[in-house]
Amino acid sequence: MGEPRALGRFGEYGGRYAPESLVEACREVAEAFREAWADPGFRGTLAELLALHAGRPTPLTPARRLSGELGVRLYLKREDLTHTGSHKINNVLGQALLAVRMGRRRLIAETGAGQHGVATATAAALLGLEATVFMGQRDIERQELNVFRMRMLGAEVVPVTTGSRTLKDATSEAMRHWVGVTGDTHYCVGSVVGPDPYPWMVREFQRVIGDEARAQCAAALPTGVPDQVVACVGGGSNAAGTFAGFADTQARLVGVEAEGGAGAARGRLGVLHGCRSLFLQDDDGQITQAHSIAPGLDYPGVGPEHAHLRDLGRARYVTVTDDEAVGAAIRLARTEGIVPALESAHALAWVIRAADAGELPAGSTVLMTLSGRGDKDISTLKELL
Ligand SMILES: *Cc1c(COP(=O)(O)O)cnc(C)c1O
Repeated sequence: MGEPRALGRFGEYGGRYAPESLVEACREVAEAFREAWADPGFRGTLAELLALHAGRPTPLTPARRLSGELGVRLYLKREDLTHTGSHKINNVLGQALLAVRMGRRRLIAETGAGQHGVATATAAALLGLEATVFMGQRDIERQELNVFRMRMLGAEVVPVTTGSRTLKDATSEAMRHWVGVTGDTHYCVGSVVGPDPYPWMVREFQRVIGDEARAQCAAALPTGVPDQVVACVGGGSNAAGTFAGFADTQARLVGVEAEGGAGAARGRLGVLHGCRSLFLQDDDGQITQAHSIAPGLDYPGVGPEHAHLRDLGRARYVTVTDDEAVGAAIRLARTEGIVPALESAHALAWVIRAADAGELPAGSTVLMTLSGRGDKDISTLKELL
């Protein structure tokens, strides 16, 4: 998984479908990122931020009791143990540091459940930047605690009242707002979506997950490389970062989507938020609303590189229902003492289903990225238990 071809193309996906002023802003971000990523000074500063503020490297934990029940050897890459509780901090620290390097004084971001908004507000506070987070009015009402956290961290939260008043509309609004302020403001996109260079840049900032896991697997696994590498897919950033560490191996790559947000498994070619990729659409080509119990998987599309990996057959994309995910979350809590984010529970639900169905041969090794912790989902789970 290297650099995209010209204009940010992954196969027939990707690109930079944006108004002219944003195309120019994206070009500047791409140039600054390419330069920064080749600069050992930038890399060193980011590695230090990740170590001192985000708690990296995260452990690779063997899930011993659950493995015994499933008849496979399951290892968990513990992004739930990072500061702010999910992998999102990896990307946000990278982009915030890039914004400082570019002389920007302010970050804007979109957020759905508020996880990316909280991570952005955190990085902004740490690096002395202002932060404005666009959030759908409906999500603001559903995610009171994260709205408070963002405000506590000094960020401004702007309610978006158009459309379905959720993530898709918040993203559109953030892009619209960026048009007028590109000179002093960096748009911190939260996943491997949006116009070039975001799908590529966000994957590079998340590949720390895969690179660490690769080295940890080499030390911990008898075979060195796991048979299966599994991660949940919303926009696809934790999965892209994980896959990047194993792209050159024989490991099978599996992306697990929510049944109601299966952009890679069931989407059709379209353009949204500046990017050509696979999106859930109705017969008229209108992008439809995604539905998932896991707010981070509630996105109607998937990043362009995943669409391409699917076409190539290098990765496959499967779906899991809300009920299966909740069951997997409870099972992990009771066998390993870990309450996962409902997003991450989707990845585990597939592992459980595949092991039970005999699809994973006895004794095979599975690396699964546990993208986040479940604290944010407690009120959802409380109503179900
Ligand atoms: C946001 C989020 C996701 C989904 O985003 P990706 O870009 O697909 O990784 C998954 N897990 C958690 C815990 C999240 O917060």
